[in-house]
Amino acid sequence: MLYRICFLFMLILPLQPFAQSYKKIHRNAIVADTHNDVISSVTMKGMSIETDLTGKTHSDIARFKKGGIDVQVFSIFCNETFHKDTAYNYARAEIDSLYAIVSRNPGKMMIVTNPAALDKAIKEKKLACMMGVEGGHMINDRMDCLDTLFKKGARYMTLTWNNSVSWASSAADESKNNLPFGTKGLTSFGKEIVKHMNDLGMMVDLSHVGEQTFWDAINTTTKPVIVSHSCAWSLCPVPRNLKDEQIKAVGKNGGVIDVNFYSGFLDSNYMKRKEIFLNGHKTERDSLQQLKLPGYEIEEWLSKKYAAEANDLRPPLSLLIDHIDHIVQLIGADHVGLGSDFDGIESAPKELNDVSDMPLVTKALLERGYSKKDVEKILGGNFMRVFTANSQ
Ligand SMILES: [Zn+2]
Repeated sequence: MLYRICFLFMLILPLQPFAQSYKKIHRNAIVADTHNDVISSVTMKGMSIETDLTGKTHSDIARFKKGGIDVQVFSIFCNETFHKDTAYNYARAEIDSLYAIVSRNPGKMMIVTNPAALDKAIKEKKLACMMGVEGGHMINDRMDCLDTLFKKGARYMTLTWNNSVSWASSAADESKNNLPFGTKGLTSFGKEIVKHMNDLGMMVDLSHVGEQTFWDAINTTTKPVIVSHSCAWSLCPVPRNLKDEQIKAVGKNGGVIDVNFYSGFLDSNYMKRKEIFLNGHKTERDSLQQLKLPGYEIEEWLSKKYAAEANDLRPPLSLLIDHIDHIVQLIGADHVGLGSDFDGIESAPKELNDVSDMPLVTKALLERGYSKKDVEKILGGNFMRVFTANSQ
């Protein structure tokens, strides 16, 4: 009997402090999220993250604080319907919008473009606001436009979004064998861009790029890469995710893969469930399509309107940890981080309703058996290492 009591006690005892400590570990860690779309999806449409947008968006300033986010890389993004010049000008306007928000909230936020400023923001308990350009189409095929976006503060560029550019093919196009510019991978100009990014100190982001572009870029770069919002292909085989050989190559390069929270990149059955949901609202979907809205905006709109149904489609949080685990098993805990894609996705795993739920990722990692040291690396340490290496 005594043995049984002792055994029970041994089981319960470590759980008690744990329940309280995950919040403390999260609060004390540097938490970096390498991809959030709130500027393009919300600010540019007239909503203000300086107000409470709970229920409308995944993010606002107050909820970044509540989620314990220390470093947020904001995606500077427009889709392929923006053509030359327009895309570049739109990117600059987005960057200006972020500067305007930060200048109105100097006690809460700070623009960060180098590791020293990042340290300062963390010391002053301000949200370190960084920028990543999501898609090479925003540089107009011109090196001087890349220079300008870097000067304005962008510190990574995703070589392509879903659309290929004249110097790099995307995952979406390579996987469909639809090559609008006729070649797979990086052209010689594409390789020059990668080298120039290395010289500037701008991280090369390999999310969204085709497999050939990935290999060409990783064989060209002299600095560690970032994969700002992608998951593991072997757990969810979609073209946006990384195959095991690619994951191993990022490990060898010293880079970091920041896992995306999107249900469709985590759960291989999510897309089938989503299609059934969308077909259930076909009339509305068709009329929204008539308005020529992009598919992702239609899905987001329907998911908000039919929230209870959309909620049932979500995978468990444990699946996000499975993806992290998979990467860790292949290349160790030094090469994985978090790239939520919040406000760019219509669905995240259950429990992760918005940026304020980020501490639950820490809780789930600790429950999975990760040490405090490894959790700190995953939450932000690995990103900081790659950022610092690129800045030198
Ligand atoms: Zn993206």
